[in-house]
Amino acid sequence: RPAILWFRKDLRIDDNAALQAALEAGGPVVPIYIREPAHVNVGPLGAAQSWWLHHSLISLRTSLKSLGGDLLLHAGPAEDVLLELARQTGATTVFVNRAYERNDLDREIAVALKAGGIAIQAFHGQLLHEPGSIRTGSGSAFKVFTPFWNAMQKRGEPHEPVPAPRAIPSPASLPKSDNLEDWDLLPKAPNWAATFCELWTPGEAGAHAKLEEFTGRELHDYKRGRDFPAETVTSLLSAHLTHGEISPARLWHATRDLPQTASTEIMHFRRELAWRDFCYSLLRELPALHEENWDSKFDRFPWQYDEADFASWTKGETGYPIVDAGMRQLWRHGFMHNRVRMITASFLIKDLMIDWRKGERWFRDTLVDADPANNSANWQWVAGSGADASPFFRIFNPFLQGEKFDPYGDYVRAHVPELAKLGRKYIHRPFEAPESVLQEAGIELGKNYPRPMIDHGFARDRALTAYRSIR
Ligand code: FAD
Repeated sequence: RPAILWFRKDLRIDDNAALQAALEAGGPVVPIYIREPAHVNVGPLGAAQSWWLHHSLISLRTSLKSLGGDLLLHAGPAEDVLLELARQTGATTVFVNRAYERNDLDREIAVALKAGGIAIQAFHGQLLHEPGSIRTGSGSAFKVFTPFWNAMQKRGEPHEPVPAPRAIPSPASLPKSDNLEDWDLLPKAPNWAATFCELWTPGEAGAHAKLEEFTGRELHDYKRGRDFPAETVTSLLSAHLTHGEISPARLWHATRDLPQTASTEIMHFRRELAWRDFCYSLLRELPALHEENWDSKFDRFPWQYDEADFASWTKGETGYPIVDAGMRQLWRHGFMHNRVRMITASFLIKDLMIDWRKGERWFRDTLVDADPANNSANWQWVAGSGADASPFFRIFNPFLQGEKFDPYGDYVRAHVPELAKLGRKYIHRPFEAPESVLQEAGIELGKNYPRPMIDHGFARDRALTAYRSIR
């Protein structure tokens, strides 16, 4: 009998436990990707991720075809699509990898399938370890990262990755598939994603190419370099991980034998991967992590919402060069360096006093790596409302952050063309530059580049006063 293989956020054939199990069942395999009406928990797929998904599905279908298989596409509620597919193919089992942000929905789907005589078998592989499997001595979930990480290390290595299969047997004929073009995942005019290709090749091959670049060149300087946005030191693997084009276990083991790299650098990278697991363990505790403050005293926080302020932030027109560079990198690549994510998020929350949930939603729509656990947990980390959060009263000064982490201004110059001719001295504070310097750099403050939209000192005091009101 054929086995249905349901792809979701595991768009790969390497180290794919569900695929492996479907093959071991011995019959032909019917791979399918289902476009469900809306992604529960965190709403519909963001625009940047839709772009990614389109290309990733093409890549997955190409790989499956090269092994003798294919990929069906169907839109609709998962249980309806799967039951109909089982009816058409005679399959009685669906193989799938767990997507931890939707456990409740998956339970409902399993019940509906069972009622229709179809079994579902679910496997692990999206995280280093199953969420919930790393617990304190008393059996509760960790609320703080470092002890979580220590416990994870004691637990031992994640599973040994399973290599990609050499062939995928397909039934003699497959039911009809939707046409990917009809799903309208790509942007219409204007094509705001045209520049995404400067940085990204969605799909499994793109993921492995990034991994090779990273381990071959950069990992030796990871611990220091990861904080400097002008240097390409980090792996750039987050979007590949989010879409499951590479498994975290594969990454963990790929960093095992790197003779040129000190073990402290490797462990630092693995520690970042563990943050992803930690975020998922928080999501398991609080499924509404994207909208509910972990720390409920923030329910009383006097947020202010000014539409024009929010628009300036989204467009990268705040007059704070490092913030503007980050927000424009987001437009250009659907990505932002981690350090700059922290700076831009802090600016929205603490300088503009806009609710972190507005920022979380903007990132969710614009990041190619938007992830239900990582995005929510990190926004709450910056806001101070999270489990293991940066205290609210630690307020980033965007000028100092820029000078410290982009000391030559190269990151700003790369993303804010108006400031491209400004030298190092004033790149993070153009409003302090003498008129002659501005003129030479072609900058007219207030005309082609804004003055700071708010005074940071004033904003800081205002935020601290607001914080005192909820303490
Ligand atoms: P590397 O430094 O190479 O790290 C390797 C991997 O570890 C990453 O790909 C990622 O999967 C994981 N990782 C690294 N840092 C973190 C972290 N702080 N929390 C959780 N996992 C981490 N990451 C997302 O994947 N999706 C998001 O939607 C997301 N939203 C964020 C929002 C804010 C406000 C902040 C401050 C951070 C957010 N991050 C998010 C975390 C982090 O910024 C990105 O994972 C990282 O920038 C991706 O670049 P990289 O792959 O080169 O990272």
